[in-house]
Amino acid sequence: MSPQAAVTDSMMADQKASYIGRFAPSPTGPLHFGSLLSALASYIDARVNQGLWLVRMEDLDPPREIPGAAESILQSLQDHGLNWDGEILYQSERLDAYKALIDLLLSTQKAYTCDCNRARINSLMGVYDGHCRHKEAVTSPHAVRLRLDCALDNSTLISAGSFTDLFQGPYGQDLAQEVGDFIIHRKDGLTAYQLAVVADDIFQGITHIIRGSDLLDSSPRQCYLFTLLGAKPPVFGHIPVAMNEQGQKLSKQNLAPPIDGKKASHNLWEALKFLQQAPPRSLLNTGVSDILDWASNHWQPGLIPARLGLPAEGLRDGFYE
Ligand code: GLU
Ligand code: ZN
Repeated sequence: MSPQAAVTDSMMADQKASYIGRFAPSPTGPLHFGSLLSALASYIDARVNQGLWLVRMEDLDPPREIPGAAESILQSLQDHGLNWDGEILYQSERLDAYKALIDLLLSTQKAYTCDCNRARINSLMGVYDGHCRHKEAVTSPHAVRLRLDCALDNSTLISAGSFTDLFQGPYGQDLAQEVGDFIIHRKDGLTAYQLAVVADDIFQGITHIIRGSDLLDSSPRQCYLFTLLGAKPPVFGHIPVAMNEQGQKLSKQNLAPPIDGKKASHNLWEALKFLQQAPPRSLLNTGVSDILDWASNHWQPGLIPARLGLPAEGLRDGFYE
């Protein structure tokens, strides 16, 4: 074990009970303003709470990945002074762990194989009806779904799907009615995001998840999985997502421009402004470490609005291109 790994291990052990946050990008494109917001908010919140801040590369879906994106995201984080603790965890190196977990859920009848075709799934309008719950396991191409009808009793199921978000307040879903038995392993052979993200949040001892509100409606499923796997769900905080002038979320899909590492101070300042932290203009002339220090000393999570999306005003000034 390298000395650095040893230090990180003992830090992890010391901090197990307190605060471990994370940023978990998918390498489907370079870091854009929207993903910088999640990185910055999770980083500052971890720092303010004397926590660790881990980075996990969610490289679970090779067809959607862009060669070089992982390296580019990590470089952007460093350009913005967002230095992570410990080693980066790559989900592509965790496939055996996901498989073991899925096999365990199958063998304990908490999950089942489903070979419903696309037409049938589409006809259900988003809530799976449990059609394959009682069928024999299939070996032909199939998804694996989690059973919501027997894994926990109904009242536990309802409370497992509810939590109080740091920024959005109380939030919950009746998973059985609104979601149905959801997929933990995809028919195309890939592990589903919901399973991998919870498996790794447990594996890394994550206590606080600060991320964009586009993932708010995944959180009840994730809370449920934490409970099912015998782990305490972390604290969740979903920040508003940045929207372009058309009111669309900035994302790799609508080709949000990459942020320019040479304008790192400006980008961080705009991100703090977006998060309603009211950074003084004088900060614009300082370096990234001064801005991050200011942000840690003045962090007011209560000022982050309980909104799912907000316009990214700074986009109009062309602060990154
Ligand atoms: N990898 C996911 C994404 O980039 C985020 C996962 C998470 O924060 O839970 O959208
Ligand atoms: Zn089915």
